Amino acid sequence: MDNRKVRVRFAPSPTGPLHMGGVRTALFNYLFAKRNNGKFILRIEDTDQTRYVQGAEDYIIESLKWCGIQIDEGIEEGGPYGPYRQSDRKEIYKEFAERLIESGNAYYAFDTADELEAMRERLKEEKSSIQQYNAITRSSMKNSLTLTEQETNRLIDSEEKYVIRFKMPNDEEIVVEDIIRGTVKVNTNQLDDKVLFKSDGMPTYHLANVVDDHLMKISHVIRGEEWLPSMPLHIMLYKAFGWDETKPEFAHLPLLLKPNGKGKLSKRDGDALGFPVFPMEWTDPKTGDVSRGYREDGYFPEAFNNMLAFLGWNPGTEEEILSMRDLISEFDLNKVHKAGAKFDHEKAKWFNHKYLVGKSNEKLANLYKDIIKEKGVKVDDSFVLKVVSLIKERANFVSDFWDQSYFFFQAPIEYDNKVVKKRWKEGTPGILSDLKKQLENLNEFTHDSIEKAIHDFLEGKEFGMGQVMNPFRLTLVGAGIGPGVLEIAELLGKDETLSRLQAGIDNIKRE
Ligand code: GLU
Repeated sequence: MDNRKVRVRFAPSPTGPLHMGGVRTALFNYLFAKRNNGKFILRIEDTDQTRYVQGAEDYIIESLKWCGIQIDEGIEEGGPYGPYRQSDRKEIYKEFAERLIESGNAYYAFDTADELEAMRERLKEEKSSIQQYNAITRSSMKNSLTLTEQETNRLIDSEEKYVIRFKMPNDEEIVVEDIIRGTVKVNTNQLDDKVLFKSDGMPTYHLANVVDDHLMKISHVIRGEEWLPSMPLHIMLYKAFGWDETKPEFAHLPLLLKPNGKGKLSKRDGDALGFPVFPMEWTDPKTGDVSRGYREDGYFPEAFNNMLAFLGWNPGTEEEILSMRDLISEFDLNKVHKAGAKFDHEKAKWFNHKYLVGKSNEKLANLYKDIIKEKGVKVDDSFVLKVVSLIKERANFVSDFWDQSYFFFQAPIEYDNKVVKKRWKEGTPGILSDLKKQLENLNEFTHDSIEKAIHDFLEGKEFGMGQVMNPFRLTLVGAGIGPGVLEIAELLGKDETLSRLQAGIDNIKRE
């Protein structure tokens, strides 16, 4: 790495909700910037007005905020190299395109859509392997290289539609080092004369992207692998502008793959397999369709970040739970993998589970209280706190809490038939009645005292622990789930425990 100040940018186009792969790109940029005391810039690349989607820009910003990715320079924050939205920089690009014309690196092209199509058809008929506007075909097209200067000027003045194309040199070897991919070699004969400036007065992605990276003094371009094919052109543009010395370094991140590893992870995979591919819920402004988001699905942002960070990277140790601060201190672009990263939904839930159990019972109880209120139950805060401490190990999300603990808030109204069949034997009501008598004598009703009472009760009996505890649980819970029976009984208290025991004895019937 050269000793320039590290300045990286995340440069999304507001064409829809940010995919989780996009968030990962932002995260890697952010981690790299912070690891190197650099700046993280958000630049909105909205030069393709036809693909603009209402609300996408706000969505991008809110997603980054939710993830805890702090923007140093951007459209809301401002900064020394603004504006940071390309449509607000429109005036800048034309001049740069013209500079390339003056230096002989670009030219005006006046071909109509029909003429371009005819060229492609002709090349197809000639069985040419490449059908593009390039060093060979440009000589037979309508552009400032084939027309006289006079004719060119006349066409421009007559408001004829034109574009500005890059004049890709013939047969040159481009060799670039990518931090992740290694050496990338391309011959310019493989590349076409890309449009840099469009007839609508807007630059294309390539021109705007390179000009802005230069003007914004970007030191490292870290982006998704889908942009790797653009890198040679970008390198040629830096050269043509005379910015070779200060051009950024490149790092192309591996793709996020479907869980089975076959192809790029798409929204369709998420819909089919039941997981979100967007950080937050998104409502399509045209169709009203709602796509689920990690935030609304109950993921903690730290867990989501941690999971994303491990898609294509790891610190090379056994450690998997890393806070943003840890990620920053561990992050190393050289350790990013070349191969695509398979998304694993179970692992995503596991990360959330880890963060959930790492949170204080107070914090979780606070989150849970809202759900309990929705269920119309009134209980003490201290009771919720105890419930949470008993069940959090069994949950991935706060929204799992109710299924794991509803029985603490309401006595069973029915009993799980399968469990009844398996656990409720002929002698069970008798055994539980005797047990109840034993428990009635307890002054102190705690885990340990109940345990001791049950041990004493079992002494000299022909039946064992399982024949007592399993049906006991059934009377308390109504099912075969939950934390330890002793813990449940202690928290329910003596009166409630005994009353549930009695209700079970009276009401549970084998079919
Ligand atoms: N605007 C491009 C995108 O939507 C940015 C690519 C890049 O980072 O150069 O991803």
